[in-house]
Amino acid sequence: MKTSVNVVTPNGNVYDNDADIVSAKTESGEIGVLPRHVPLVAPLVTSAVRVKNEGAEDSISVSGGFLEVRPDQVTILAETAELPADIDVDRAQKAKERAENRLNQDDEEIDQKRAQQALLRAEIRLKVAERK
Ligand code: ATP
Repeated sequence: MKTSVNVVTPNGNVYDNDADIVSAKTESGEIGVLPRHVPLVAPLVTSAVRVKNEGAEDSISVSGGFLEVRPDQVTILAETAELPADIDVDRAQKAKERAENRLNQDDEEIDQKRAQQALLRAEIRLKVAERK
């Protein structure tokens, strides 16, 4: 028994596979989804989704969106999603530095929460890119 996994963004389909287990991070915490899981919908947080299938593991960086679980299917509707091979490491490194600089400037004009989110996206992309 497998569950099928589908990751989609507004730009299109990013990933399709069968899985023994899918791990994702929702606003209420980390979740491991096995086949026949009870249906649920949960908001996703910026994180690495991991898909284990036949001993192989794929990692996908995701930001925003929702996780929808049905007994035989996991759908991830994300604002952004990238596989390791799609990640531009230099771009993520620069985004990380920009966000860190913003966070280090003690300026009220700067939206700290937005900078924190940008930093997290960059950090997750760099982590997932290592799995190329
Ligand atoms: P940047 O400041 O570099 O644009 P960001 O975190 O603000 O980074 P997002 O708004 O999350 O970027 O994403 C915009 C689009 O660019 C999405 O389609 C996303 O998949 C893609 N993207 C962002 N960063 C990278 C990256 N390092 N490598 C590949 N694609 C990326």
